[in-house]
Amino acid sequence: MAVFTKTIRSYIALSMKNKAAAKTYFTKKLLAWHEHENTRSLPWKEETDPYKIWLSEIILQQTRAQQGLPYYNSFTTAFPNVAALATANDEDVFRLWQGLGYYNRCKNMLATARYIHNELNDVFPDKYNDLLSLKGVGPYTAAAIASFAFNLPHAVVDGNVYRVLSRFFAIDTPFDTTQGKKQFAELAQELIKEDSSAAYNQAIMDLGATVCTPSTPLCDVCPLMKNCIATSNNLIEVLPVRSKKVLVKNRYFNYLMLIHDKKIWIQKRGSGDIWENLHQPFLIETDSPLMAEQVNKIDLIANNKRNIESITADGTSKQRLTHQMIHTNFYTVNFRNKPNLGTHEGFWVSLSEINKLAFPKTLVSFFKNNLYFYN
Ligand code: SF4
Repeated sequence: MAVFTKTIRSYIALSMKNKAAAKTYFTKKLLAWHEHENTRSLPWKEETDPYKIWLSEIILQQTRAQQGLPYYNSFTTAFPNVAALATANDEDVFRLWQGLGYYNRCKNMLATARYIHNELNDVFPDKYNDLLSLKGVGPYTAAAIASFAFNLPHAVVDGNVYRVLSRFFAIDTPFDTTQGKKQFAELAQELIKEDSSAAYNQAIMDLGATVCTPSTPLCDVCPLMKNCIATSNNLIEVLPVRSKKVLVKNRYFNYLMLIHDKKIWIQKRGSGDIWENLHQPFLIETDSPLMAEQVNKIDLIANNKRNIESITADGTSKQRLTHQMIHTNFYTVNFRNKPNLGTHEGFWVSLSEINKLAFPKTLVSFFKNNLYFYN
């Protein structure tokens, strides 16, 4: 993918003639900025307990720091150490995770906590490769724990790092290719200062989050501005380069709140799809939106016609996941007598006890906005 013109390439070649000096400059300026000017404050900064660092990193995967903050506080309060998390019951942990999305993270987190508790006597591994072998821990999280908890020289590489490095060194290799991942990881590893690995990793993450932001970076106050190739050549908008477009699949979820005697019918979602192990009301997934008049034709409704007191359409919602857009229709169906649900597996729960179960975010919002759930 050609991003740079020939002139820009010659300029980059010239600027990078002394690449070693550029690297030294980069690390020196970054660390000085971190020591004197970096004011980003987060509760897990300066933390050295590997359990809390791991927890914060798992919560922050695909989640912004401000959104993850209350979850980090709730988890460290409810489960102050790995033994407490490992011995908690699944439902309590999933309920605390509710709203963060990407529930596989939560599942892997529990599996890892239980492995450390049962097999390692509650002692977190202190070597990069051992950390990497834990469920749900990839190179980024392993490097973060290794450097922050054990001051080992492993450079973190995430979206912030791709952005800062690609702009400063003018690298147009797409970061989401095998070649790009390797190139950025090697460069990041060359830049890290062995005796300040925790500070270096924290500095580059914070600079990417607060100064070298995706749009409108604050170059005027950036410690790297003097030698940054992107800022002096108007390349900020084209860097970093991504090779693939994220394809988003549309899915249509139609939830039927089956209500009888102040109870709702609930089922647990199975494996192999989004929201694994979370709960939901009766679901019909269709290839296109299900119109209100089509609800009457659903077998369950058609077979129970005489038993139905009322059906109301209660609105719609949309939730964007990384590769999916979930379009949801909500219907409430009130029954006179308990309906026969045939082979559908589920159970009846009192409306006032619905908040004891873990649900996807879109359903939690629906329950909160429909007060009959709490009467
Ligand atoms: S000068 Fe601007 S583009 Fe370059 S690293 Fe700093 S904030 Fe990013």
